[in-house]
Order: sequence, then C-alpha cells, then structure tokens
Amino acid sequence: MVSAPANRGARHPTSSEVTCRIAIAGAGPVGSSLALALARAGVPVTLVDASDAQPLEASGHGARPIALSEGSRRILAALDVWGAISQSVTPITRIHVSDRGHFGFARLAAEDFGLDALGYVIGAASLERALHAQLQSLDAVHVLRPARVDDVQSERASGVRLSITDAAQNVAHAHVEASLVVLCDGGRSPLRERLGIPASERDYGQRAVVAEVEARCAHRGVAYERFTADGPLAVLPLRGNHCAVVWSADADRTERLLSLGDDAFLGALTEQFGMRLGGFVSAGPRSAFALSLVTASRVVGERLAVIGNAANHLHPVAGQGLNLGLRDAAALAEIVAGCVREGGDPGDAAVLERYAEWRRRDQKVVARATDALVRLFSNRFAPLVLARDMGLLAFDLMPPVKRYFGAHAMGLAGRQSRLTRGLGA
Ligand SMILES: Cc1cc2nc3c(=O)[nH]c(=O)nc-3n(C[C@H](O)[C@H](O)[C@H](O)COP(=O)(O)OP(=O)(O)OC[C@H]3O[C@@H](n4cnc5c(N)ncnc54)[C@H](O)[C@@H]3O)c2cc1C
Repeated sequence: MVSAPANRGARHPTSSEVTCRIAIAGAGPVGSSLALALARAGVPVTLVDASDAQPLEASGHGARPIALSEGSRRILAALDVWGAISQSVTPITRIHVSDRGHFGFARLAAEDFGLDALGYVIGAASLERALHAQLQSLDAVHVLRPARVDDVQSERASGVRLSITDAAQNVAHAHVEASLVVLCDGGRSPLRERLGIPASERDYGQRAVVAEVEARCAHRGVAYERFTADGPLAVLPLRGNHCAVVWSADADRTERLLSLGDDAFLGALTEQFGMRLGGFVSAGPRSAFALSLVTASRVVGERLAVIGNAANHLHPVAGQGLNLGLRDAAALAEIVAGCVREGGDPGDAAVLERYAEWRRRDQKVVARATDALVRLFSNRFAPLVLARDMGLLAFDLMPPVKRYFGAHAMGLAGRQSRLTRGLGA
C-alpha cells in the first residue's frame, strides 16, 4: 500500500505521495503503540513524527520517569515490547501517600491486589527506544521521521490527505492519503485546533522539576507521593538506591530548584521529603516540564480520532497520562482492526463513535480525579486540610475503597481491551 516518492529520480525531490489505511501524526509512546498494535493486526499504517528519534535520548524530555500501571504492562506485553524493557523497569511494590506537616497518610501494597507490583518505573527514552525498535521489525508500518504534519484535509468521502514537511527526505511537499488520521501529537496539539476540535485548558501555574537522585538507604520498591506546600513531590524507586524525583512547584520555586548546586538541591529535597530514605547523597541533571490540564472537547471528528495527550493532557501527580493514552491506543486499535477485518471503512463516523463511547468514562474519571487531587492538595484552608487528611486515613483503613481506586489507577477497571487480555488487536 505504500508508494515510493513520486519523483524518486530527481536529485532534490519537491514532492512525494504515500497511500495507506491509517495515518498517525506523532510517534510518541501512544502513537507508536497504536502503530504497533495495528501493524501486528495486519493493518497498513504510516507513522509521521516531527522530531528526530536520536536527540530524545539526550534531551530532558526523554529523562522523565514513567510509572507504568499493571494494565499498561499487559498492553506492552501483548505488543512484544515488555520483554525488551523488563530488565530496565523497577517494580513498585508499595505506595506511600502523605501530606507534609499534617497527620494524613495512606498506603497501598501489591499483595493487597494479588499482584507482584503496583506499577513499574522506566525512563521515557528507554520505553520509546523499545517501541521504535519493535516498529522497525514490521513491514506494515511506514515511518516518516523527522517529518511534520502541517495540515489534514478531508478530500473525498472516502479519505483524508495529510500535508507534510518531510525533513528526512528533504521534501517540501509530501502527502499521505488514508482512510483515517489519528492525532497523537501531544498536549500542545495545534493540529487538533486546526481540525475544529477545541480544548479546554487549565494552567496549574506549576512546573515539574525532574531529577534522578541517590538515597542513603534502600527504597525497597516504595513509591512516595508527598503533598507539600509547594506542590506534589513524587519519589519513585529506580535501580539500586536510585530514585526519580518529580517535584511540582510554581515558576519562581522551580527556577530556584533548577539553579541550585547539587548539595543545595538535595538539602531542599530532604527538607520537603524528610529522612525516610536516610537523606540523599547525589543528584543527576535536572529538567523541567510545564503542567496543565488540556481536555479535548471531542475525541473523534470527520475521519479523525484524537488520542493520548492530544485528547487528555494531565498533571503527572498520579502518573496516569501515558497509562490512559495506552488504553486509548489499545481500544482504537481493536475497533479499527476489527472493522478492517470485516471489510469496513475505519474512518466511518459510526465506527469512530464506538471508540469515543468506549473511552468516554475512563477518560472523564481519570482527568477529573487527577485534577481534583492537584486542587485539593494545593489548598491550605484549615477545614479542607482536616477533611482531606481524614479522607486519607479513612482510605488507608478501608480495603474495599482501596481496591476500587487501586483497580482504576492500575488500568484494570471497566471494559478491558483485547491487548490488556493478552490477545492481538
Ligand atoms: C514529569 C512528567 C512525569 C510523567 N510521569 C508519568 C507517569 O508516571 N505515568 C504516566 O502514565 N504518565 C506520565 N507522564 C505523562 C506522559 O509523559 C504522557 O502522557 C505521554 O508522554 C503522552 O504520550 P503521547 O504519545 O500522547 O504524546 P507525546 O509524548 O507528547 O508525543 C507526541 C509526539 O508527537 C510529535 N509531534 C508533535 N507535533 C507533530 C506534528 N505536527 N507532526 C508530526 N509529529 C508531531 C512529537 O514530536 C512527539 O514525538 C508524565 C509527564 C511528565 C511531564
């Protein structure tokens, strides 16, 4: 289905044409997982990404830690990616939530759920590297990279046409024709707006400072989420005594945290986190990410689906963004592959509405719960602080409530995709 550049003989081609069944804009972890799931089900895909794959390794963007849920582990295992990363992940066996300066705390343990781990921590770059390696082994995926999707036009009743600047081939005017385009171009997606899907945005006025640190004592697989006056502070287990720090605070505070020397940074961290891990002995490079909640008003349009961060860009406080996006990818792949197998049109409005209906509840629950957590724990109004700390303690003491929330956080609540059940899409 993939055609070669139209003027292959020319020394500097000015245009090229590609025809495929599904075009995916954005090869982040969500777009790559969708491409893998579809290609493995025999659906030809063109995957377009604006960035060069290599700099991700060195960039701060690739340094962010990702806590993968049990549901995501199952999806990645079904895509044959888990085997490649299983040696690089650190299992989270327990979670400890606390409210700095107040009495509330709550704990979750893997054994309460009959699991080996509540989740797994991996660097974003390692995960993306494994996804891209797996993509290269499949003939049904055509990757254009670095190549930016500039526009998408619904040309005929039967297809869409993507206009692309293809820096890889030095082609100024490339086009991809497909039955369906899926936007996986991240939370700042200008394509979504251009295609008539507005989004609501809440700027949290915070950034997350990310760093790898080494603790004096063993973390024993415990992930800590500590709500501080600055904002949420997560300390996640990595190899040995190493931990990933994700520290959310306002712009001035994060600027200061970025400019401190290592010792001063570790001192500030110990002040907020306490001596649970015996203090910290070293810190790696720091990077920062702007934090906001962006929610697309719709997740489907004319021959168009919007998934991952492009649909729901969340605060990282509960580590849910990518986990939610992988469930989007698994659900969409299942619906599209099933439709193509039956000889149907994957861009048909009724097919896309089935996807939107399936994902509506999970997306709403996760986005609202994440936002509520940020706002509740940013509030210093005394009665509210008392109520939330009572809530934390009540949560800690009620196993059925823990199991209900735990199942949601692990991506094991509601309708499960075929990939989550270990089957092909
Ligand atoms: C500090 C931090 C910690 C986090 N921790 C967790 C966690 O523990 N657990 C979790 O589940 N989530 C976590 N997240 C969220 C997670 O990183 C995102 O949800 C995830 O990266 C979204 O993936 P995506 O593929 O949708 O988008 P992205 O990763 O943003 O990828 C978008 C891709 O689209 C490409 N692109 C953009 N525009 C175009 C265009 N016009 N044409 C072609 N390509 C384009 C970009 O180059 C990029 O490769 C965290 C986020 C942060 C910032």
